[in-house]
Amino acid sequence: MTVGRKWSAPKSELLVPFDGSFRIDAAPTSPSRELDKAAVEAARRERTLEIYELQRKLYADNRYAALFVFQAMDAGGKDGTIRNVFTGVNPAGFQVSSFKAPSDEELDHDFLWRVAQQLPERGRIGVFNRSHYEEVLVVRVHPEFLEGQRLPNLDLETIWSERFESIRSFEKHLAENGTIIVKFFLNVSFQEQTRRLLRRIDKPTRNWKFNPGDVKERERWPDYMHAFEEALNETSRPWAPWYAIPADNKPYMRLQVARIVHETLESLGVDFPKIDEAARLALAECREALERQ
Ligand code: ATP
Ligand code: MG
Repeated sequence: MTVGRKWSAPKSELLVPFDGSFRIDAAPTSPSRELDKAAVEAARRERTLEIYELQRKLYADNRYAALFVFQAMDAGGKDGTIRNVFTGVNPAGFQVSSFKAPSDEELDHDFLWRVAQQLPERGRIGVFNRSHYEEVLVVRVHPEFLEGQRLPNLDLETIWSERFESIRSFEKHLAENGTIIVKFFLNVSFQEQTRRLLRRIDKPTRNWKFNPGDVKERERWPDYMHAFEEALNETSRPWAPWYAIPADNKPYMRLQVARIVHETLESLGVDFPKIDEAARLALAECREALERQ
């Protein structure tokens, strides 16, 4: 992308359309056909290597920041996907931020405040493991959480559409100032979530991941699906698209995310900066000076 040309989201059937027509019931949670696991993993590793190469160029180019947002139901696979897709990227140009229930200090500010502080700087890749979208997901399912936010003039009729408006404007502002934003909804089915939570109970090395609260929370599954559907429809826009990734098959999910991350970085056309003739002559002089010393 050069200055003045509009960035456009990588094409994919998983892209959430910008016209509000996304239906979560119709969105797939698994691949449409049987896949060869080893081949899928090999393809993912190839993408990861490409991501590593492009990250070096993004860093050298130093104009764009890339932000990848991950949202999912519990056990949707956010942590493992982030780990797999970004394995090997240079830690100096990469940061992951996780957002939990807000602290007292965070509650003293508007809901975008804590997110703004974690945005990647130019040249870097930032990943959000959960994000400002919790404010229209978990908080929507539990509007009682709004009490802690002490909003004057709180109106439950209008707050969600106001938040969507805030989020769209915030992301548009970032996009116009050099941050590329791509968002992933890891779409896991209720049945697969059951299986994964059971595995966290049954497998000692996964016990630490089990949170008894997740069992209670999934009773609200239909409310979450409604909240996700509306959030994606209201905030998937050309400057900050959502992709709904089938998440029941982990290797497939990771490959889809890696592919979109790779294509996003590639679409920027970043490269190592080339120097002009004057700079080249200056370098030649430096070389001579170094050799003389
Ligand atoms: P994860 O579940 O993402 O793997 P974790 O288990 O390490 O992460 P949790 O203790 O589950 O961490 O913290 C995440 C919790 O914080 C989630 O239940 C999430 O809904 C909640 N949370 C995040 N942001 C907000 C918010 N703005 N308001 C209320 N709750 C939030
Ligand atoms: Mg959790």
